[in-house]
Amino acid sequence: MKLDSKFLAERKEELLKRKEELLKELTEGTVQVADNDYSAKFVDLGDKDDENAAEVAIFEKNLSLEKTLEVSLYNVNKALKKIEEGNYGICEKCNSVINPDRLKAFPSATSCMDCKKKSL
Ligand SMILES: [Zn+2]
Repeated sequence: MKLDSKFLAERKEELLKRKEELLKELTEGTVQVADNDYSAKFVDLGDKDDENAAEVAIFEKNLSLEKTLEVSLYNVNKALKKIEEGNYGICEKCNSVINPDRLKAFPSATSCMDCKKKSL
């Protein structure tokens, strides 16, 4: 079984859209420090106790946002690269073709369902 070019083009479009969304979310809560590296934004609200508390709350939210988004962006970029290289949809662990339904639901998947289950 091989993935056809129409299927690949559709997944690529979804991945590019996802990438755009991720970058947008990242610029809201983080600052880019390097390629594929973002830091949580720190907002200075003032020096009062409640202002300091609010700053910490925002920073913590941005920090968890940064971690989640950074990983997602990394996976999306990796999937896009695989499409370019022609090895998209191949399980990284067992080299079998990942179920197209799984790729439809989760375009940046890098392993098949069986390997995913084993690693959990
Ligand atoms: Zn596998």
